[in-house]
Amino acid sequence: MINIRFPEYLRGKYQIMQIDRILYPIYTLGPGERLVLWTVGCSIRCYKCSNPELWEKNTAKNIEIENLGNLIKQAITGKKIDGITIIGGDPLEQIEELSKLLPHLNDITDDILLFTGYKYEDIKSLEKWQQIKDYISVLIDEPYIDELNDNKCVLRGSTNQNIIYLKNGFKEKYESYLSKGRLVQNVFYKDKMISVGIHNLERKANAACVPS
Ligand code: SF4
Repeated sequence: MINIRFPEYLRGKYQIMQIDRILYPIYTLGPGERLVLWTVGCSIRCYKCSNPELWEKNTAKNIEIENLGNLIKQAITGKKIDGITIIGGDPLEQIEELSKLLPHLNDITDDILLFTGYKYEDIKSLEKWQQIKDYISVLIDEPYIDELNDNKCVLRGSTNQNIIYLKNGFKEKYESYLSKGRLVQNVFYKDKMISVGIHNLERKANAACVPS
């Protein structure tokens, strides 16, 4: 397990982008062995969000983007990588910064999966979205609604969320992954165990996702 730790001199020196953690390999947030980045900051604040610790912006999580891109490339050199997932927090609350990071990530893979709590219909005409849309292969949109968590989908916390293919050629890869149902991966992070993935509600039984 790679946990990309940022050198302290890169933290807080430049107020460029806020990233909490980066882990590899993760199997539970997209198909294959993936690098996953958790961004900081979300003003949507869904009831029972699984990452409320990432809601508040935090300058202690600042990282300079050029250095971040290089750090990631160095860390995964020689490793098998099937894709990158960006989750948060809400990554689109740093869309300007994301537009600078994505070219670095696209040097590594063309499979970039992005989670957002915003509706695709509301963001797709934004000028800033135009700067990043060509880098995103698959988008999961809309906020998490606890009452709509049906324990079915590995990538969708609640049934209102949509799996949107923004690039051709990814549907088959993702749909075979979606048939697995919910997956959770336990990893050590900062000397404690964390669970990575979309979690089941205990009140409901597990089942496979049927893509709409
Ligand atoms: S949009 Fe995502 S990160 Fe933000 S509160 Fe909802 S579930 Fe949590």
